[in-house]
Amino acid sequence: MFAAMAPAVNNPLAGFCRDCLARQPGISARRCEACGSPRLARHAELYRLSLAHIDCDAFYAAVEKRDRPELRDKPVIIGGGKRGVVSTACYIARINGVRSAMPMFKALAACPEAVVIKPDMEKYARVGRQVREMMQALTPLVEPISIDEAFLDLAGTEKLHGMPPALVLARFARNLEKEVGISASVGLSYCKFLAKIASDMQKPRGFAVIGEEEAVSFLADKPVTLIWGVGKAFDEVLERDGIRTVGQLQKMERGDLMKRYGTMGERLYHLSRGMDERRVHADHEAKSVSAETTFDTDLASPEDLVPVLRALSEKVSSRLKKAGIAGRTVVLKLKTSDFKIRTRNRQLADPTRLADRIFSTGLELLRKETDGTRYRLIGIGVGDLSDAARADPPDLVDLQSRKRALAEGAIDNLRDKFGRSAVETGYTFGKGRNARPQRDGDS
Ligand SMILES: [Mg+2]
Repeated sequence: MFAAMAPAVNNPLAGFCRDCLARQPGISARRCEACGSPRLARHAELYRLSLAHIDCDAFYAAVEKRDRPELRDKPVIIGGGKRGVVSTACYIARINGVRSAMPMFKALAACPEAVVIKPDMEKYARVGRQVREMMQALTPLVEPISIDEAFLDLAGTEKLHGMPPALVLARFARNLEKEVGISASVGLSYCKFLAKIASDMQKPRGFAVIGEEEAVSFLADKPVTLIWGVGKAFDEVLERDGIRTVGQLQKMERGDLMKRYGTMGERLYHLSRGMDERRVHADHEAKSVSAETTFDTDLASPEDLVPVLRALSEKVSSRLKKAGIAGRTVVLKLKTSDFKIRTRNRQLADPTRLADRIFSTGLELLRKETDGTRYRLIGIGVGDLSDAARADPPDLVDLQSRKRALAEGAIDNLRDKFGRSAVETGYTFGKGRNARPQRDGDS
């Protein structure tokens, strides 16, 4: 289909405004049609890409400027004393030639009027946590690289946010400025390697996109040092072999590269071609998705507990599906009437995000615990999270399970359209009164 014939909203070149987030119906205007801002995001793959690298701009210096507004237009250096080195320089100091890791005496020679502030690591850690929490509200797949930067995988979150990842990220950058008082740069791509490069391209307050289509040509004229792992020493090795640009690597055979440089050759082969399979791995704290319910009165019988387990499994499943992730370990949690906690878990052959598999595994675990003990709480969760791509492979042996998976997909669609109560399974239908939850909790 011709791009010009597509409706404006689906035409990626129509883009959006990074300041007011308004979609831009026109594909060539230089300023936002709603607010006049020149900060427009446009890219042919804008609404298809979902892997991001977010990096706060001159983080320590930005936090200090936020707390001391009188420093806003002054060059600020965060670092330790005259004999120390520069930890962070604000952008005004950078214009004057100050760089990170530069000895302080050199920095002050380049920029004598700079205000030098001793780092307050506790404060930066506090702000870093706040930024991290804002990221984790976007997707469970947040992989922190340092105090102020992280990879985010937003695949499958469009329904949850009601907008594509690109807009979610622009909104994040805007909220960060409004709510935390510092800025960040966003790199959006299809893999970690290029997302990280993109976040560095338009700093500060950047928003750069590298799509699949242009990856190889984008990389061609770049120096080999752009490749992850090519440091000073390896750069010299490559230079000796006459290799200066990524484009040269693109023309070399895989076998040749591996013969010359071993495992590093393999990496050079893939990354030079924009091929990077590394996944975004979530922070340890966010390594499970679960739901639990505390009862009005303690319950002991399977008849009472099973429908609750089913409803909770559906809740967990729907969260996994929205986040585009799956888990391999199913965990059942029970709290007895005397507040003792029992957790039981089972590992599956493949990661799952299906309510049916979560429920049936939980049910097996629950059967062994329904021995007359009275419970005040039941919870179910999945851990060992991964990307949903390898979840629930078609089970050729068990055709029934395939049918159930398809049925579940249909139920999900109906619920998306008409709400959760539109479809109830046999397990939960009409069972609301016995097990009315007192409160819901997530962990
Ligand atoms: Mg940074």
